[in-house]
Amino acid sequence: MARIEIRKLRKDFGDFTAVRSSTFTVEDGEFFMLLGPSGCGKTTTLRMMAGLELPTSGEIYIDGEEVSGRPASQRDIAFVFQMFALYPHMNVRRNIAYPLVSQGMARADVRRKVQEVARILDIEDILDRPVGGLSGGDRQRVALGRAIVREPKAFFMDEPLGALDAEFRERMAGELRALHDRMGATTVYVTHDQLEAMQMGDRIVVMNHGVVEQFGAPQDIYDWPATMFVADFIGSPAMNFLHFDGAVARGACRIGLAGIHVEVPALLEGGKGRLALGVRPEHVHLDDSAPYRGEVLAVEYLGTTQIVTIETANGALKARLSSAQPVRTGETVGLAFDARTLTVFDAASGRALL
Ligand code: ATP
Repeated sequence: MARIEIRKLRKDFGDFTAVRSSTFTVEDGEFFMLLGPSGCGKTTTLRMMAGLELPTSGEIYIDGEEVSGRPASQRDIAFVFQMFALYPHMNVRRNIAYPLVSQGMARADVRRKVQEVARILDIEDILDRPVGGLSGGDRQRVALGRAIVREPKAFFMDEPLGALDAEFRERMAGELRALHDRMGATTVYVTHDQLEAMQMGDRIVVMNHGVVEQFGAPQDIYDWPATMFVADFIGSPAMNFLHFDGAVARGACRIGLAGIHVEVPALLEGGKGRLALGVRPEHVHLDDSAPYRGEVLAVEYLGTTQIVTIETANGALKARLSSAQPVRTGETVGLAFDARTLTVFDAASGRALL
């Protein structure tokens, strides 16, 4: 098990900065997600943590020990890639045993360990099969088996489910999480899929353009996004932004939108100029008596819920409503928001004032 601390980590490739100044801590036994869009620097961060890439500056500590200059082989970690490279000429048992055999472990011990790992992954019945004919899921389990058999301090996974189709991906995500819960080994996992990150992670780092935008538990990030980028990236449909010019004070306050006032929760900072009120689609309610009004532009039916796009004086927004609620394109509706769920952003910097 391992606690991994990252301090002001930076990586330049020539004059391009892939990772700017990342600071965060992965607690012992945590399932930790590095999340962000393509090119944001998450793979580079993971590779530095694993020892596959040297940082330009900054430090990495594993259990309090500085390891930044040490290669992967001296960090007691296992890396699981998207494309599982199994040895095609070996059967399942030999593939899993390989890391132990190459360490010179005694045959009887290797046999026992492989059996144990096969039991955990529920692949005992295929141990003597060649890997060539296996299904994608079984290949995945064999690759995981090879990673966990060494009992490393930590696992590093780079989009390990990226190549799988949606249904299977979801099942493997559940299996991976269950496996982690049984073994409790620190796991750092890269994904660009916010749902996967929310579903699997104990905590998430959200990155953009080489910068850590926020890190925290999935629900905290969802409920209290630190930036407009995070608010937009997490959640589907994304958080709505109602733009307005004005000033808000520190502390609890009311802001004016198109002639009506919305109560917002206590602000830690005041702000003025171009501001944005962030509201999640599920926190928009239709209320005939509400003075804030908009026109329904589109209705998208999703079974039990419907996504309704509404044009307001402050921009279009999406509401997630029960499908039982009758809504027609073209009608004018009154809009109400649950005050406790609102976030105010400074639109220029993108930072939340909460
Ligand atoms: P993806 O999901 O697409 O892999 P990512 O968030 O993992 O994205 P990185 O792979 O870390 O992003 O890459 C971050 C940026 O650094 C990208 O713009 C990439 O082109 C650049 N980069 C990565 N490795 C190198 C390299 N060896 N030399 C030059 N530029 C690189």
